Amino acid sequence: MHHMTLAEIARGLADKKFSSEELTKTLLARIAQLDPQLNSFISLTEELALSQAKAADARRANGESGALLGAPIAHKDLFCTQGIRTSCGSKMLDNFKAPYDATVVAKLAAAGTVTLGKTNMDEFAMGSANESSYYGAVKNPWNLEHVPGGSSGGSAAAVAARLLPAATATDTGGSIRQPAAFTNLTGLKPTYGRVSRWGMIAYASSLDQGGPLARTAQDCAILLQGMAGFDPNDSTSIDEPVPDYSASLNGSLQGLRIGVPKEYFGAGLDPRIAELVHNSVKDLEKLGAVIKEISLPNMQHAIPAYYVIAPAEASSNLSRFDGVRFGHRCENPENLIDLYKRSRGEGFGAEVQRRIMVGAYALSAGYYDAYYLKAQKIRRLVKNDFMAAFNEVDIILGPTTPNPAWKLGAKNSDPIAEYLEDVYTITANLAGLPGLSMPAGFVDGLPVGVQLLAPYFQEGRLLNVAHQYQLNTDWHTRTPTGF
Ligand code: GLN
Repeated sequence: MHHMTLAEIARGLADKKFSSEELTKTLLARIAQLDPQLNSFISLTEELALSQAKAADARRANGESGALLGAPIAHKDLFCTQGIRTSCGSKMLDNFKAPYDATVVAKLAAAGTVTLGKTNMDEFAMGSANESSYYGAVKNPWNLEHVPGGSSGGSAAAVAARLLPAATATDTGGSIRQPAAFTNLTGLKPTYGRVSRWGMIAYASSLDQGGPLARTAQDCAILLQGMAGFDPNDSTSIDEPVPDYSASLNGSLQGLRIGVPKEYFGAGLDPRIAELVHNSVKDLEKLGAVIKEISLPNMQHAIPAYYVIAPAEASSNLSRFDGVRFGHRCENPENLIDLYKRSRGEGFGAEVQRRIMVGAYALSAGYYDAYYLKAQKIRRLVKNDFMAAFNEVDIILGPTTPNPAWKLGAKNSDPIAEYLEDVYTITANLAGLPGLSMPAGFVDGLPVGVQLLAPYFQEGRLLNVAHQYQLNTDWHTRTPTGF
């Protein structure tokens, strides 16, 4: 049962092959048995799951249908869930029970999903390895000595290990696509504004976007359908109609223009990954796509710009965690300043503190123009590169990551080395564009992802290209041994 995709589950439930309650019990037992190896969950919500499963079964018995009705999922632990701990992977929020559901959580619940739990993540979504969580590192089911990627590493490890078919995640600089690549999943970061951020604890508000992590493009289409849409509670949410993503999966790739940026293949890219990317290009050519070399000349400036903008916004967003309004409070404070200092010093981990310091510095009087403003100008140049490229091509294709998943601890002493791993993913966030990572092969037994980028609101195009690729390849069907 645990090998089924969302699409297969929907069919099985509709055909009364099994009930959502049976499926939910099977998966909860599997999580109890296998998750101790992975640490992919921060909280399990068995009671809620069983009551949602029974309710979904009752709705089906009453004649209702729907691709998500009775489908078990989990939420990254930065989506607020009413009455349930929402920790953001931090000691700061270890005791925080959200007073309301995030829009994404409420929409998916209304569609009939069953919440199995809240998944582990890098603290406040800062990281590319899922090692900065207060609840401990997450392990990659493909090799337990390796990281699963971050910051949505818990969602990725759980789905890859077949503990559940799909999960929500968020992507500020790659946190959906990079763990998807590291664990052989399909992950989609939608256009900025496509999915509501209301109730999604903010890291960097101009970059954060929620999206689906699943095993197939078809399942990403199903889950995104339940997440996307305008939300008056989120002022950055965009009032654009949501297309039928599953209906967009039938398009021919004949004549589709795919741009491959020459800058993507410089030093730093593992040559074995370069080869797999070229293989995926050839596969898509066989399906009718036309390949064109393009250029994204400002890509080299993206990492420094991102690592100014993201910490700057984080330093502002995280000021609310002061031990008074939100978050951990120290014992016996001597005065207000002592309370702030010790509460924040005890509540935040090392990486979060580093970013708050970098961000506050970049925003401080006298430095704002030199760092933050400059970074915003680079951001515009990065966006302009994409706009020029999309005048010539329909899709941009390249590696999702320069290297496969590294060993746990390998980059702990060198944060910059970890930042450099985000080189291919962060540009989409800077520009607000949608991006998808799909499985495209293995090196040393570790999965490799290919990234596709499209113009604003062309999620359907990304999903269709990935779906056509998956109809003709079987990388995405490979399962990690032991799971
Ligand atoms: N690795 C990037 C960072 O640490 C992106 C994380 C994310 O997308 N949440 O900022």
